[in-house]
Parts: sequence; C-alpha cells; structure tokens
Amino acid sequence: MTDAATRLDDVRDDMVRACKASRRRIDDVTLIAVSKRRSADEIAALADAGVLHFGENRVAEVEEKWPAIRQARPGLILHMVGQLQSNKAADAVRLFDVIHSLDRPSLLDALVRESARAGRAPSVYVQVNIGDEEQKGGVAIDDLPDFLAKVRTSGLPLAGLMGMPPRGVQAGPYFALLADLARRHGVNGLSMGMSDDFATAIMMGATAIRVGTALFE
Ligand SMILES: *Cc1c(COP(=O)(O)O)cnc(C)c1O
Repeated sequence: MTDAATRLDDVRDDMVRACKASRRRIDDVTLIAVSKRRSADEIAALADAGVLHFGENRVAEVEEKWPAIRQARPGLILHMVGQLQSNKAADAVRLFDVIHSLDRPSLLDALVRESARAGRAPSVYVQVNIGDEEQKGGVAIDDLPDFLAKVRTSGLPLAGLMGMPPRGVQAGPYFALLADLARRHGVNGLSMGMSDDFATAIMMGATAIRVGTALFE
C-alpha cells in the first residue's frame, strides 16, 4: 500500500472504532481531507486511495491548485473550511461545493447574490464561535437563532453547524455544546473534529470530520 493509503486506513479504523463505540453508522460520518498547503500529487494519492471530499482554506490557493485536479477527477467534492471574505463570494460559489465558514449576514447576502448569478449554490455550514474566542470566526452563540433563521430563508441549502474548540483544552465539552445547539435548533449536520480529536467528535455526533495532518503526514 502507498503511504497515503496506509494513513487513510488508520484514520478509517479510528472512525470505525468511534462509530462502534457510539452505536453510529460509519456511513453517517463524512471524512474531509483538509489539503491546504498540500501538493496536487499528495491530493491525487489520497483520491486514488478512495477519498472523495477535500477541504481547503484559501481561495487563492484553490484557484492555483484545483482546476487541474478537478479536470482529472470531476467527482471530487471541495469544501471551504477557512474564513471567507465577502468580496471572495463569487470565487467561492464557483470553486466550492460546500462552505463551512458562513458566520455573518454580509457573507450570507454575498453568497446568495453570487449563487443566483452563477446558477449554482454551495451548501453551507453555519460556523459557531463555540469557545467565544475574539480571534476566531464564527457567529456568537447568542446570535445563532437569528442568523439561522436568516440562512433558512435564504435559499442556500443548510448543511449544519461547524465549530472549532479552543486550542489546548479538552475538546469534548465544546463538541457537546455544538451538538446541543444543533439539536435545539433542529439542525442535522455537525462539522467538527480534526486530526487530534476526530474520534471524540464522532462520539459526540459529528457528521463531517475535517482531517489534515493525520492523512498527509
Ligand atoms: C487545517 C484545518 C483542519 C485540519 O487540521 P489537522 O489538525 O491538520 O487535522 C481542520 N479544520 C480547519 C478549519 C482547518 O483549517
């Protein structure tokens, strides 16, 4: 097996274990390989090993790297996991199938406008600032109900909630918080969990995990 295939097997084993332990179905958890700063060759190796979903965090990098990859592999699904400026909304609509970082009305308006113009709409996760951190993106928990109502009337398909726990603390309680918010607001999808904590995230209900390092190194 190639290194990429071996790493993918290891991650999948951990996913299966976490699903078993929490009585969940493996099919209900989507693995997104976060390929920021990784080469087209590294991405191709993972795609050959069976990864369908990839995540990136910078529009400029995607413009450069992805047209050739997409041409060779039109079936791949591309996710935007990084913060997005409203003036990049047209690019985002053109480049991405799913956006995980919708966190403010101005960005929502821009995405709606550009989706209408392009005749294609990405599905969106509303990013929640679960750790109440100044420097992180995400809608404040107190603003979530109003913002979700806006998203629901916008016409963009709502994929779920996305969140990132603060660094250096136990992630579990933050995942539980995001899952609870989703439950309270009738949202099904939960994008949470990275290389260090995706098993915990799955046990707390993640439906999409965003894994970089563990798949590429
Ligand atoms: C880089 C990144 C990841 C993947 O992080 P790893 O720790 O390398 O698995 C996940 N989500 C977001 C938003 C990222 O920017």
